[in-house]
Amino acid sequence: MKPVSSAFRHLAHACRRGSPAIVLPLLFLPLSTRADDAALFEGVRGADMRIAAIGWRLAVANARLCDRIEPGTGMQLHVLDQYGGAQREAAARHFGFATPVAVEGVLPGSPAEQAGLRADDSLVRVGAVEIAKLSGKAGKADRLDAAHLAIAALPVDAPIEVEALRAGRPIHVTIRPIRACNSRFEMTDDFNAASTGTAVQVGAGFLEGYPDEQIAVVVAHEFAHNILRHRDRLIARGVDYGLLSGFGANVKYFRQTEVQADLLSVYLLANAGYPLGATTAFWKRFGPSKAGGILRSRSHPAWRDRVATFEAEIAKAETISARPVVPPILGERDKPLDGDWQSILVRN
Ligand SMILES: [Zn+2]
Repeated sequence: MKPVSSAFRHLAHACRRGSPAIVLPLLFLPLSTRADDAALFEGVRGADMRIAAIGWRLAVANARLCDRIEPGTGMQLHVLDQYGGAQREAAARHFGFATPVAVEGVLPGSPAEQAGLRADDSLVRVGAVEIAKLSGKAGKADRLDAAHLAIAALPVDAPIEVEALRAGRPIHVTIRPIRACNSRFEMTDDFNAASTGTAVQVGAGFLEGYPDEQIAVVVAHEFAHNILRHRDRLIARGVDYGLLSGFGANVKYFRQTEVQADLLSVYLLANAGYPLGATTAFWKRFGPSKAGGILRSRSHPAWRDRVATFEAEIAKAETISARPVVPPILGERDKPLDGDWQSILVRN
């Protein structure tokens, strides 16, 4: 599980403002045995890989819609730094970190899997990126961020030579990457979802009880914020996206980005082959329990209106058979936000 970066907070709108720098604060309290460690670490890995798999599917299928492309490998990374305090020693032992950055897992069918890379390979070099030259701090994700940025900046269409340690022995593989949108996808330790501009983060709370196709709705929404550069465009507008995001003159800009993200997410899901009905199914379940009443944020439209907006956009999307669909909303990416959310939201 990854530390929560500074990010938009999107769905649950409660008073949470980021989490403590590190992970599993609740799960880890009663730890006593190595068997407990193993079960919990594997639970974290499984959940992170679940988010990664959804993100990978979206990032590859929508590469044509992204203006920032990276060489997609399908390897999910983690760093020893992210396991802070008392967890660090147990994590080092469990995952066998021989270098500070390791493969948490490889996605089925991905270039990394085809190249023969495996979970728990500790990375020494990825293309021109020397892992030993990346710096980080205990309890922080700096080194993970640095590794992702450096690997994403490698040439998109060139093979990537990887040197790693597997159970202490050096291995060498060649990954032949495929084009993917520049984003990482990861789990965090809360019940929320966020976009940082370069990452999509989904709280562990979402994973329980929601099927993959509905988690994909959340991931696609956050991913749409990144593709549409909403963070940068809100900053360009001078808005405060912290505690005050729900107040005053900021509201219209936030609402515009929310509706735009919902609209684009329909096409991201369609291009990746997810059932579009999952959007409304998610909101009809999540909306009444988590986004109504006192938890309702003024920065977000009412969930019933979001459902109506999804239904209208799905009807449009279903008339288009080409894949990938490159929808007109993408043209908004390079325009300043004008705060017009009224004309793109469909009222329930
Ligand atoms: Zn949002």
